[in-house]
Amino acid sequence: MKEHNTYAGNVRLVGGRLCLDFANSAVFEGRAVAKEYWCDYAAFVVWLRHAGALDAAAIEGAASAALAQPAEAGAALARAVVLRAALYGLFSDIAAGRRPAEADLAALNAALARMPTPPRLASMGDRLAWAWPAGASALELPLWPALWSAAELLMAPELARVRECESCSWLFLDTSRNHTRRWCSMEDCGNVAKARRHYARRHARS
Ligand SMILES: [Zn+2]
Repeated sequence: MKEHNTYAGNVRLVGGRLCLDFANSAVFEGRAVAKEYWCDYAAFVVWLRHAGALDAAAIEGAASAALAQPAEAGAALARAVVLRAALYGLFSDIAAGRRPAEADLAALNAALARMPTPPRLASMGDRLAWAWPAGASALELPLWPALWSAAELLMAPELARVRECESCSWLFLDTSRNHTRRWCSMEDCGNVAKARRHYARRHARS
């Protein structure tokens, strides 16, 4: 049975890109969700804030829209979950050197088609950043930065650096100098894997 977890604000952010953290907001076993952190739209909002996925005003807008329109919030969350599954599938396939599944690409394109207008580039302090379409559904807005981040990464040279953790299956961008990183984080999965190997060696000897 799918395990529900309300600790959406504690999910580790190891992806290195928003789209990968978005994909890592569940624990996947194959293509099935084994552990869900987005139990409802409120938990999704907790995660958005935690991940810095969107500016504070847009997150507040989504939170109050969800209180006012619970049915629409449920539908928007369902679309976020579909997008997440597609992103996980696409990047997991690419990390394994497989050709991305047509169904995942179709789901990503369907989400792109729902954006009312593409984002604009706007000055934010001393740099340029994406500005998300104003006047669009406050409940859907949180999907777009992750969607756009995915489209950017899918066409970027760094795509070749997307990896799937050998221990927990989360996705991350390998920015290590030799591009030999195998785990989402050394502190968690890396040490667990090393301890497991150490135990297996000792066990084999005795
Ligand atoms: Zn891991």
